[in-house]
Amino acid sequence: MSDLKNSPYAVLFEPVAIGPVTARNRFYQVPHCTGLGHANPKAEVALRATKAEGGWGVVCTQEVEIHPSSDLTPALEGRLWDDQDIPAHRAMTNAVHEHQSLAGIELVHNGQHSANMGTRIPPIAPSHRPVDVMHPVQARAMDKQDIKQLRQWYVDAAKRARVAGYDIVYVYAGHNMATLMHFLLPRYNDRSDEYGGKLVNRVRLLKETLCDVRDAVGTDCAIALRLAVDELLGSGGMQASDEGAEIVSMLAEIPDLWDVNISGWSNDSATARFEPDEGYQEKYTAFVKKLTSKPVVGVGRFTSPGAMVSQINRGVLDFIGAARPSIADPFLPNKILAGELESIRECIGCNICVSSDNVVSAIRCTQNPTMGEEWRRGWHPEKMPKASSSEQVLVIGAGPAGLECTLQLARQGHSVLLAEATRNVGGRVLTESSLPGLASYRRVSDYRQQQLRVLPNVELLLDNQLNAADVVDTGIEHVFIATGAKWRRDGLGRQHPQGILYEDAMPVLTPEDIFAGKQLPENITVYDDDHYYLGGVIAEALHHSGCHVTLVTPANCVSAWTEHTLEQHKIHTRLLMLGVRIITAQQIKSVGKKRLTLSCIYTENLSEHESEAIVMVTSRMPSDKVYQEVLTECHDLATPLRTLKRIGDCLAPSTVAAAVYSGHLAARELGLDGTKDLYRRESLQSIQ
Ligand code: ADP
Ligand code: SF4
Repeated sequence: MSDLKNSPYAVLFEPVAIGPVTARNRFYQVPHCTGLGHANPKAEVALRATKAEGGWGVVCTQEVEIHPSSDLTPALEGRLWDDQDIPAHRAMTNAVHEHQSLAGIELVHNGQHSANMGTRIPPIAPSHRPVDVMHPVQARAMDKQDIKQLRQWYVDAAKRARVAGYDIVYVYAGHNMATLMHFLLPRYNDRSDEYGGKLVNRVRLLKETLCDVRDAVGTDCAIALRLAVDELLGSGGMQASDEGAEIVSMLAEIPDLWDVNISGWSNDSATARFEPDEGYQEKYTAFVKKLTSKPVVGVGRFTSPGAMVSQINRGVLDFIGAARPSIADPFLPNKILAGELESIRECIGCNICVSSDNVVSAIRCTQNPTMGEEWRRGWHPEKMPKASSSEQVLVIGAGPAGLECTLQLARQGHSVLLAEATRNVGGRVLTESSLPGLASYRRVSDYRQQQLRVLPNVELLLDNQLNAADVVDTGIEHVFIATGAKWRRDGLGRQHPQGILYEDAMPVLTPEDIFAGKQLPENITVYDDDHYYLGGVIAEALHHSGCHVTLVTPANCVSAWTEHTLEQHKIHTRLLMLGVRIITAQQIKSVGKKRLTLSCIYTENLSEHESEAIVMVTSRMPSDKVYQEVLTECHDLATPLRTLKRIGDCLAPSTVAAAVYSGHLAARELGLDGTKDLYRRESLQSIQ
């Protein structure tokens, strides 16, 4: 551990009082969802416990529904509808307290943000409005009795939260996801009673709820207000320069802690592609501390201790809030405390973690493959069990899968030879990081390269393209093949399961051709049947290199899957603003010398478009030649290989997160003598 007194980061480890409770340091894991929620309580507990173990002074839940009229089904968030939900929460607070951290709970009533698909209760809102999730459901306007009930639900939930052992109870008016925020906004609140109209009326319910919750939790528990102070909608929404500041002034001393951010979620959890800088929320939230004497927590994808110290010393924040940086590295505070800055696994701002919540599956992280696996697989982000015997292992390919596999094998004590065909490690993250907005993707490789450098039992062979004979010649009996995948030229993809036939066609390029700097004509088309980020970002890159770009996709919008990473709207807007021509709901019928024939996916009507080249972003083929050859040669070996496994994209092309996970899993399974590292399943009864 470094000498904290003389550390430039000492201020981060000062205890800070939050009303009647005290956080042991300034590291604050703000509420964040996990896709685990009320259906996976043990996984949830282990995840939060790991954060506390890693040094976060405050560890919060995700949003926790307070009543069946706030039912986010099918999404899996937290629940505290009645007393039967208490034991799962008690398990969470016990686990967090074991590490001397404070436990916070974000109580929410979602109002017109919840369609109540499970409970079938008509949603409620300040005024009659359709719900903002895509269901044919409307929320009904609340009457005075409803308002009274809502206040009581908050009180009841706050009392349950106390029984469950929480130290900080939240009142939530953020992300445009909470009834208490909907009341604040004139676009949703057109009431003519004392809860609508001028600001003091629109704030009334939030103020009453804060006071109710204060009374409900007693004197030994803190209350926090999470407020979105700006919606980035100009005068069409809440603005920090206007009502955002007025609300903070009006409520300044009521909560014990202000947790402030920007709304909606896509602004708060902006990806690095759209907000590359650490501390990007400062310009909206910095005013808050000037209006209250209470401590303030805010976020901004903080991963560098220097930036964190600057926030504290300049009086911007009292607590360094983090969701994603605490997901990518649950041990970030302890690493700073120990002076091990180079071992921080920095968040890359890709929002794969967010996507898991949006598709209702357990959280995952590109940088941290153990995220969400703390309980079900028993994985720890920093501790790797030592192998019973040290083996010699060959890993081929130093992309995300090969690097992660090598690192985890080496940590188990194996001697690893990592062979890479090119002169650089990183594989796809290295090449893709040159695309606009993706520079942070390099962190996947930089972190692992840095870790490998200090391990004596790893030998890295760059500029070494291995073939099957080379593999056999090494005499190594455990071989992992992480040679990646290549984009297909034949257009095979979801829309064209048998590919596209080209005769006398314009040049048909792949993303690899673009990365290789191939000469490009002026007028170029990108065909995106992949629907994640690459098609859209290549269109952007080609535009910047001076081409006239058309993006064609069979989907109804650009980069459709990035809806889940909260980017689709931003990508589509950016491309339109740049002047990229976008053609949606069209597939390729044929590719001519200077023309593309497109067919509408609904009517099959044909249309012709001029182009001089086309870039196919449709699907990838595993680069598994070495694997297939070694497999064939294996039969003739005197001593057969004990392990021959493909990992990452070489096994099945997927996300970078999946490649890292695949490498991690394979490394762990080597230590299990051929058995599989299977995961445990939750049994809800057993936690009661
Ligand atoms: P993944 O995402 O699965 O890690 P990548 O495509 O990012 O896959 O990385 C694969 C890496 O493997 C690349 O750096 C590539 O240069 C390397 N590679 C491919 N074939 C060979 C080979 N025969 N020998 C050594 N390295 C290879
Ligand atoms: Fe950061 Fe991406 Fe991990 Fe989320 S998934 S924490 S954005 S690295």
